[in-house]
Amino acid sequence: MQNAQKVIIIGSGPAGHTAAIYAARAGLTPVMYEGFMAGGVAAGGQLTTTTEVENFPGFPDGITGPELMDRMRTQSQKYGTTIHTETIERVDFSSRPFKVFSQNDPATAILAQSVIIATGATAKTLPIQGFGEYWQKGISACAVCDGSLPIFKNVPLFVVGGGDSACEEATYLSRFASRVYLVHRRDKLRASTIMQDRVLSNNKIEILWNSEVSAASGDGKKLGSVTIHHLLNGGNENRDAGGLFFAIGHKPNTDVFKGLLDMDADGYLLTKPGTAQTNVEGVFAAGDVQDKRYRQAITAAGSGCMAALEAERWLAVNGIH
Ligand code: FAD
Ligand code: NDP
Repeated sequence: MQNAQKVIIIGSGPAGHTAAIYAARAGLTPVMYEGFMAGGVAAGGQLTTTTEVENFPGFPDGITGPELMDRMRTQSQKYGTTIHTETIERVDFSSRPFKVFSQNDPATAILAQSVIIATGATAKTLPIQGFGEYWQKGISACAVCDGSLPIFKNVPLFVVGGGDSACEEATYLSRFASRVYLVHRRDKLRASTIMQDRVLSNNKIEILWNSEVSAASGDGKKLGSVTIHHLLNGGNENRDAGGLFFAIGHKPNTDVFKGLLDMDADGYLLTKPGTAQTNVEGVFAAGDVQDKRYRQAITAAGSGCMAALEAERWLAVNGIH
């Protein structure tokens, strides 16, 4: 039987790479499975789908998402992380060493003394007409990330959704926009009272009830208008739009762990408060896969650091490292 790796990291966004850098520098010779279009996202994670990242410390002039992730990958490898461009399709955490199985060789168990799960989440969007053409040219799924970009200043912005994220994003965007339209498919918001109150008392935000965005159009270079479909009377209306933000939830990439690890009702992995520890000792979770609240590169990186430090301590306590 092959030797068990000390630490296997599943996933390759900021959480996975930060965990890898810390684990590698601690001499744990981590092995990362970075995924191959796992969850529909390229290796490197969600930031590979965006342009400028302006809120990751250390880059005062900003850096593109793909370049930031390339640099993290290089840093992980520099300190001794082995990276496989493979997706983990099955795991067995019922006994130690743990077993993980790659899509490339599903019959062979890869053994691990500890596992760090950093498989991230995928922002949900809607396949409206014009989506592909204007994604990242006015259409976004992260207001906090993109909202302050110059293209969104003093123009009408549309936010789709009725939950806390949609309310938070609409409120945030109202600082930059000429007006914000919150497009919700029902006549009642799902968001908490406090978030609703913020939206309802903000005179720059208007709610379009019982409505959905059915199309996006523009000049080919950037979004110029959206079509609002009124669900009660079936009517359609074109409105000028400088931006369209989807805030209809995220899907954590946790299908592989269903029934094996504790999750909340939305499928986010549960960790013990203030730690990266899951309900299985020796299995840690970091980044968006366990964080439905902040969902930022820097918070993902921070929890990746926590996961690696906890894995190192856990291996030491168990006499493995
Ligand atoms: P992710 O980045 O989601 O990466 C997880 C990786 O794991 C993916 O590559 C996935 O393919 C892989 N994976 C999944 N399942 C498996 C498996 N079974 N086996 C192997 N690999 C697997 N945040 C900011 O701070 N600033 C920004 O400007 C910013 N802009 C954004 C723009 C967009 C368009 C989006 C969608 C998000 C943006 N974010 C931004 C949020 C940020 O990208 C995320 O918070 C962050 O990437 C989360 O990191 P993570 O490591 O948890 O996971
Ligand atoms: P939610 O699942 O709570 O809300 C998603 C919203 O999108 C709902 O209003 C839903 O409509 C709408 N929606 C979903 N699918 C579609 C679709 N296909 N077409 C149109 N609309 C759609 O997700 P959130 O991201 O808002 O929140 C996730 C979790 O994170 C929650 O627990 C929330 O409380 C928490 N959170 C807390 C924050 C805070 O406290 N500051 C900030 C952000 C999130 P409908 O209501 O009709 O189902």
